[in-house]
Amino acid sequence: SLPKIYLITPTHTRPEQKADLTRLSYTLRHVPNIHWIVIEDSPSKTVLVKKFLAGCKLSYTHLNVATPENYKLKESDPNWLKPRGVLQRNAGIDWIQKQPQTKGVVYFADDDNTYDLQVFEEMRFTVKVSVWPVGLVGYLWYESPVIKNGKVSGWYTYWKPNRKFAMDMAGFAVNLRLFKENPSAVFHMKAGRGNLESDLLTQLGVTMDDLEPKASGCTKVLVWHTRTEKSSLKNEDKMLKLYGYNSD
Ligand code: UDP
Ligand code: MN
Repeated sequence: SLPKIYLITPTHTRPEQKADLTRLSYTLRHVPNIHWIVIEDSPSKTVLVKKFLAGCKLSYTHLNVATPENYKLKESDPNWLKPRGVLQRNAGIDWIQKQPQTKGVVYFADDDNTYDLQVFEEMRFTVKVSVWPVGLVGYLWYESPVIKNGKVSGWYTYWKPNRKFAMDMAGFAVNLRLFKENPSAVFHMKAGRGNLESDLLTQLGVTMDDLEPKASGCTKVLVWHTRTEKSSLKNEDKMLKLYGYNSD
C-alpha cells in the first residue's frame, strides 16, 4: 500500500482562517492516503475549526496548544522576530510519536501555502529526507537546493546561505522512521525564525548525503509560500453605528 502522508498544519484564529483551511482541505481531498493533523494555536479547540474539520471529508486529528504571550508577535514587531507555529508543530510531532506506525512520511504544511498535488507524490516514497524548491519565499521567485551530479551540494537562497539546511518548512519531507529513531527531535523556539528547519534536520541526524532531490532534480516549483492578505474589516464598526447591527 502507499505510504501514508502525515501532514502537520498549525493554524490560528483570524478572519481569513476558514478561507485558508477550506482551500487547503480541497487540495488535500485529492491526495490519497493522507492524514491531516491540525493544531490550533489556542488554549482550547474552537467551534469554527471543530465544525470545519467534521465536514472536511478527510482523515484528521484535531489538537490545540496556545503559544505563550511572550512568544507571540506584537503588531509592532517585524515578522521575522519570533517563529510561528512552533509549539503547534511540536504537538503534531508528539502525536505522531505516540502512534504505533513506523511507515509513513511527515510534512509540515502551513495553512496559507499553495500546494501542487504532485508535491505529495514526490514526497511519498521518501527514504530519509526529500527536498524540492519553494516558490515566492525569501524575497525571491523561489529558493531551492542546488543539485550537482544528482546530489544536493548547497542552497540557492539569499538569506543566511550558510545554514546547514537552508530550506523553508515547505521544502522538505521526512520519513516517519527518522522521528521514531530520534524521539527528542522537536522544533526549538530559540533556533529562531528561518533556522527551525535546519535545527530540526540536524537533530534528526540528517546529512547532506541523505537528501533526496525531488521535483525533477529540483527544477520544478510545486509549492508556493503564498501569504493571505489581511482583510480590513474597518467598516464593521460603521455598519453597527448606521444600522445598529453588523456581521460580527
Ligand atoms: N500560526 C500559528 N500561530 C500564530 C501565527 C501563525 O499557529 O500566532 C501558524 C499559521 O496559521 C501557519 C504557520 O503558523 O500555519 C506559519 O505562520 P504564517 O503563515 O503566518 O507565517 P509566514 O507565512 O509568515 O511564514
Ligand atoms: Mn504563511
